[in-house]
Amino acid sequence: AKGDGRGAFRFFEAGMNAKMQLRRGLEIHLRQALGRGEFAVHFQPLVELEAGEVSGFEALLRWDHPTRGQVPPDQFIPLAEELGLIGSIGAWVLREACAAAAAWPAPLSVAVNLSPVQFRNRQLVLDVVGALGASGLAPSRLELEITETAMLFDTDATLATLRQLKELGVRIAMDDFGTGYSSLSYLRKFPFDKIKIDRTFVRDLSVTEGSLAIIRAVTRLAADLGMVTTAEGVETHEQLATLRAQGCTQAQGYLFSQARPANEALGLVRSIGRS
Ligand code: C2E
Ligand code: CA
Ligand code: CA
Ligand code: CA
Repeated sequence: AKGDGRGAFRFFEAGMNAKMQLRRGLEIHLRQALGRGEFAVHFQPLVELEAGEVSGFEALLRWDHPTRGQVPPDQFIPLAEELGLIGSIGAWVLREACAAAAAWPAPLSVAVNLSPVQFRNRQLVLDVVGALGASGLAPSRLELEITETAMLFDTDATLATLRQLKELGVRIAMDDFGTGYSSLSYLRKFPFDKIKIDRTFVRDLSVTEGSLAIIRAVTRLAADLGMVTTAEGVETHEQLATLRAQGCTQAQGYLFSQARPANEALGLVRSIGRS
């Protein structure tokens, strides 16, 4: 048993080294990515379930690494947070997203993801004001998505920031709802405009009866609190029909479209609207 333990330790160590090497490789390039124009913001449509129409898009960051090609945001965003780069990257995403949305016909809106790290910095509110001002986008057409991790730290400061953002007239969505530990207490502390139901619940709809019960309960709860709901990760017509039957407000997922470059957004509004 002793030998096994040491083997497992060595294996773990080797795994760590590979991870650290990958990290170091990414780190050098990530520091320069913004300046070199390697980032792009893509847009995934949000579809109103009742009208069957696109009402807006979620902005999703893409990084075209010079040698590795596309690196998924789940890999480079945590690194950008650690390296202290997320502030400048996040501000850039806000400006790009607002500029793109300002070119769409109203009331099409754009949703931007905010890192919990950005959220702890006073600069965030200034960045939002700056992006709105530079683009001329009406604040009501901008939505900010935050995860409950953002609510974990410094609750008073967090609530103050949320209120300042709300006073600007932007909407606030709680992202990945149901994946953390205490989502419900956050709903009581702050009036979110929207709840985004995490895609794991949608994915398991046909597998686990509990997922349907949870989606039903969250949709009902949101309605009672005056919030709308978006179901993430909708891939099949069957999921779509179930979500519609549960009174979910919006759906987002590969069934409609993946995130696409800005110049394809309006085409998606037309093609999804007709289907
Ligand atoms: P998220 O905010 O939950 O974004 C939704 C993710 O689900 C996106 O992954 C999207 O491409 C993916 N997705 C959408 N529909 C489907 C579907 O039908 N099936 C499946 N399997 N996946 C679907 P993506 O673009 O790789 O982004 C991953 C995460 O990275 C995001 O999760 C968000 O947390 C973070 N992220 C992306 N862009 C930004 C950004 O500009 N700033 C910050 N702070 N985080 C970002
Ligand atoms: Ca999101
Ligand atoms: Ca999400
Ligand atoms: Ca997520």
